[in-house]
Amino acid sequence: MAHRIVIIGAGIAGLATAVALQQRDYDVSIIEERTDTSTGAAISIWPNALAALDELGLGDAIREAGGQITAGALRWRDGSWLRHPAAETLIATLGEPLVVVQRSSLRDILTAAVHGGTIEYGLAANGLRANADGVQVRLSDETVREADAVVGADGIGSMVARHLNGPLAHRYAGYTAWRGIASYAMDLELAGGTLGPGVETGHVPVGPDRTYWYATERAPEGRLAPEGELPYLRTKLAGWPEPIPNVLAATAPADVLRNDIYDRAPARHWARGPAVLVGDAAHPMRPHLGQGGCQGIEDAAILGAFVERTTDLATAFARFASYRRPRIASLVRESALIGRVINLRPAFLSAAATRASVLVPEAMFTRHLASVAARSAFVLPA
Ligand SMILES: Cc1cc2nc3c(=O)[nH]c(=O)nc-3n(C[C@H](O)[C@H](O)[C@H](O)COP(=O)(O)OP(=O)(O)OC[C@H]3O[C@@H](n4cnc5c(N)ncnc54)[C@H](O)[C@@H]3O)c2cc1C
Repeated sequence: MAHRIVIIGAGIAGLATAVALQQRDYDVSIIEERTDTSTGAAISIWPNALAALDELGLGDAIREAGGQITAGALRWRDGSWLRHPAAETLIATLGEPLVVVQRSSLRDILTAAVHGGTIEYGLAANGLRANADGVQVRLSDETVREADAVVGADGIGSMVARHLNGPLAHRYAGYTAWRGIASYAMDLELAGGTLGPGVETGHVPVGPDRTYWYATERAPEGRLAPEGELPYLRTKLAGWPEPIPNVLAATAPADVLRNDIYDRAPARHWARGPAVLVGDAAHPMRPHLGQGGCQGIEDAAILGAFVERTTDLATAFARFASYRRPRIASLVRESALIGRVINLRPAFLSAAATRASVLVPEAMFTRHLASVAARSAFVLPA
């Protein structure tokens, strides 16, 4: 009989992991506490994650659903170029264009790829107990689900991560992020980011007539702009170079999200016996590399490869954790470092440090980018 695996969480990592395990004939169910998993704004899917999605048979569906980005322009807030790589350089570095897709499309494609009836919505997993036969998952409807193994794909506040590690401190990083989608066809040449003292913005096409944008800024935790988030940003970024003012003008208030950015203490244990963590549950990271979701997708494809090699799930999980840790640890460190530099105070220090990054030679920059986000950066275990 097929092994039964319960996945907790139907986010990117949980859904992708279900696809990988069902492809190997595991009997999978996903427990998701939300009843409404609708999600706004967009997400960058870098070629490393496209390669992982190809393993899951979903790469082309994502490529078709999103905008393909061949520019990686980085400018200062006065419009001057910090970096302006040629499209051919970017594609040669990454192996193919980066794709930016609406989160709702990504969720729909992943959801359609799992077997019907796999996801049980509106049910929270409240506790776990491992025993000689596998695990018991205690659910919010007072029932207990028995399984051979459990995958914690339950995000930054993961119950499964706490089960494996004890309490994990959660701390506000000191800044907030806005995201939105504009009904605006931007100049493809300007796809990338624009930086200013203490402020990072990004703007990339999601298809021919829509632009995904984001902005980050230091702010007290939990603060909301009294005049509304969009009016605040339109005023704050009014003097910035295009496409920023046009993009903000073409955004509807309902299409703007604001999230404070948090760090969580690293989880020492990603796997023990019949339990394993994937995605943000294992390794939350700040958003500056656009790799959090991409690494959740890599996790799924690589966990699938490990469980294919042995029917002993505990062994597969332990091997998965040791294999993934080194790559992800460096991405967590680097995304935190970028966030700290951009948000340095006083702001002139952040401006000096950010502008100095332009001094990194192009060849070194592209080599590093390839190691993070190229197709070749996704490596299945030998
Ligand atoms: C501003 C911003 C921009 C970003 N941009 C990018 C980007 O461009 N590219 C990129 O790759 N990444 C990006 N990320 C990161 C990315 O969004 C996350 O890494 C990714 O969504 C995490 O997916 P996940 O499935 O691991 O966790 P989550 O999305 O947090 O999903 C966890 C799921 O588990 C459910 N859950 C939690 N606890 C329980 C429980 N006890 N019982 C049942 N269900 C439970 C939750 O309801 C949720 O549905 C960005 C993040 C931010 C904040």
